[in-house]
Amino acid sequence: MGFDFKLKISNASQLVVISKGKPFLIGKEMSNIEIIENGTMIIDENGIIFDIGTFKEMEEKYKDKSFEKVLDCTGKSVLPGFVDGHTHPVFSGDRVHEFAMKLAGATYLDVHKAGGGIQFTISHTKNSTEDELYQLLIPRLNRMLKNGTTLIEAKSGYGLETETEMKMLKVLDRASKQFQGVEIVSTYLGGHAIPKGMNASEATDDIINKQIPELKRLKDAGEISPANIDVFLEKGFFEYEDTKRILQAGKDIGLECNFHGDELSYMKSGELAGELGCRAISHLEKVSEDGMKAMAATPTFAVLLPTTAYILRLECPPARRMIELGVPVALGSDFNPNAHCLSMPFVMNLACVLMKMNMNESLVAATLNAAASINKSSTHGSLEVGKFADFVILSADKWEHIIYEMVDPPISHVFKKGNLVFSNNN
Ligand SMILES: [Zn+2]
Repeated sequence: MGFDFKLKISNASQLVVISKGKPFLIGKEMSNIEIIENGTMIIDENGIIFDIGTFKEMEEKYKDKSFEKVLDCTGKSVLPGFVDGHTHPVFSGDRVHEFAMKLAGATYLDVHKAGGGIQFTISHTKNSTEDELYQLLIPRLNRMLKNGTTLIEAKSGYGLETETEMKMLKVLDRASKQFQGVEIVSTYLGGHAIPKGMNASEATDDIINKQIPELKRLKDAGEISPANIDVFLEKGFFEYEDTKRILQAGKDIGLECNFHGDELSYMKSGELAGELGCRAISHLEKVSEDGMKAMAATPTFAVLLPTTAYILRLECPPARRMIELGVPVALGSDFNPNAHCLSMPFVMNLACVLMKMNMNESLVAATLNAAASINKSSTHGSLEVGKFADFVILSADKWEHIIYEMVDPPISHVFKKGNLVFSNNN
């Protein structure tokens, strides 16, 4: 105690602010990120960014102040902590065996018939206790943290019935209260697939009449904390009308709509989002021109998941056209047992190589815009005064190394709300 400030991040060769005073960036703005060369950042005792500027001006301004800790970042770059806009991190039972099948040419349907796919994850997740699921989640969050992620969107969706869906949301709520490094915004995804023995309309009724009322009860009781509702809008799964009914029911109890759309077939996702005023749509491999225009007008965030296209060898979503039309683009890892990726640097690299985004656009999409896609950009996603001091220190004088060195970029430290939560001793 007795210090004026908690932390000074001093003389970073690049301090990547991203942007000042904007909730998200669209179009050409995504290519113009703000960087302070030889920058210093001051963090207060609450873990909030108090001031930021050049080393020279900060040295002068704060010459009489004391700091609990000063970190010399000469030769290093500092970026905002990454925000992963789409994850499914609560599950039991990996699916490594399926990866071999798929590489040998098995289709989604072949895997399904062999007892694999989402049904495999659902049966394992149902059979796991809340504590077992929590114990599986924590190391995954730690691996995200090592890769610089400090905020995620995380979904339920491997229960498809009330009890397991609520169990998953309880696991996420517990992690968000007990795990310090990665903050969690949770999403209810009871409509992830049609449960065995039901048709789509019965499943929709179950969600609206049983699962959502129980979700509201537990939310009001403080046992779970979902902010969003999600549905897998797809041919043969939840189609347009069912999806609309489910999202509306979520909206009616105060959840934001953030759904899976246009992944395998064109399902008028953008159009639906415009109609309901949805915050975000993920995937969008098959989105239409009209859909993108509706998204730009709402605006609805496009949460793009390049790992899906990569793993499933699908066509990528039209990221360039979205940016041209002014759709706010965000990125997510889609971490799940089918796409086992916990790394946003790798996701940014894939976004550049496969989706033809430039490095600035990818970084904006993995920070400020991803934060905005989950309604967190007033406090997260950029290095601005008043926001949480969530940041990554890179042992490289140019920030682009985070993308260029794709699989194991030289992250030396990760801070969450001004606290050191990861450091690489090498
Ligand atoms: Zn997903």
